[in-house]
Amino acid sequence: MTPYDDSPAQAVHAAPRLIDGFGRAVTYLRVSVTDRCDLRCLYCMSEHMTFLPKAQVLTLEELDRLASTFVGLGVRKLRLTGGEPLVRKGFMDLVAGLSRHLRSGALDELTLTTNGTQLERYAADLARHGVRRINVSLDTLKPDLFRKLTRGGDLTRVIAGIDAALAAGIAVKINAVALKADNAAELPDLIQWAHARGCDMTLIETMPMGEVDQDRTDQYLSLQDVRRDLSSFWTLEDIHHATGGPARYVRVAETGGRLGLITPLSNHFCDTCNRVRLTCTGTLHTCLGRDDASDLRAVIRGGANDAQLREAIFAAIGSKPKGHDFQIAHPAVARHMSTTGG
Ligand code: SAM
Ligand code: SF4
Repeated sequence: MTPYDDSPAQAVHAAPRLIDGFGRAVTYLRVSVTDRCDLRCLYCMSEHMTFLPKAQVLTLEELDRLASTFVGLGVRKLRLTGGEPLVRKGFMDLVAGLSRHLRSGALDELTLTTNGTQLERYAADLARHGVRRINVSLDTLKPDLFRKLTRGGDLTRVIAGIDAALAAGIAVKINAVALKADNAAELPDLIQWAHARGCDMTLIETMPMGEVDQDRTDQYLSLQDVRRDLSSFWTLEDIHHATGGPARYVRVAETGGRLGLITPLSNHFCDTCNRVRLTCTGTLHTCLGRDDASDLRAVIRGGANDAQLREAIFAAIGSKPKGHDFQIAHPAVARHMSTTGG
């Protein structure tokens, strides 16, 4: 039997069965499929990153097995991320394989977060495999600033990728990290640009994840301040759009578009947290801001059968922490966002 078969264990329509010690149901899994990337964003990576040896990274079959086991335990939404998911060799085979859970009804959504550089090539395939929405990270519309922030990226490729996704019928949400020194003044233009294309937009505060080359306190921009600025010329209406995640949403009356504000540092969102993260090395993190970790790669490479794997997952979920404690000056956790998956 190949990992892509519809085995009964993988196709179970389960009620949420992953309930943590605080009564929260885990229904959302983010999976980092690689730590590698074709960009080197200043806030995410150092210039000369040392990437993981291939043997440490889960194979496509292992990724499928782990993700499918979570689906069998009630996970309804799967987000593939990285690093850059679209640079992982064989990535589209993984998507094609996992799409069986959409067809069976076990999964509501299969999605990804991407930097968009390879999207033009893959958008139609993603749509064909049932991907209906994606997040594309884009911090600026200025080609020179984009090149600087990503250490060499080509903005035109990202925009072509976004257009290809929209043309393929995929809804695109634009994610931008709010950076005090670099894009603060441009944020209204970026929001307008996204909304004009029918894209939702989400702003993210910089998070202290992993050592990078620059001082992050310089770049930290509170989204409460951004919201106050935007409110001086736009009408922001709070809307109820609960995702169980850290975003709070408003409707910009003037553009008609939706704007999410992810404020992990200035707000707590842990009470409704429904998500866990799997790294590309098979480590399960049940909280983005803490160093708790369960090594599921060791479990599967140690020969665990499906029941034993499920037990290991139950044990990890049972110890999901109540909340996190980020502080901007010091990395709360040593791992990079590119390893954990943003
Ligand atoms: N490469 C893909 C991309 O850029 O969309 C997926 C992985 S990337 C790590 C996921 C998200 O994390 C991106 O939107 C990126 O801007 C964000 N990110 C990376 N480092 C961050 C940090 N230190 N603080 C806040 N967001 C960060
Ligand atoms: Fe790559 Fe995404 Fe990190 Fe930028 S944010 S370096 S695109 S993984």
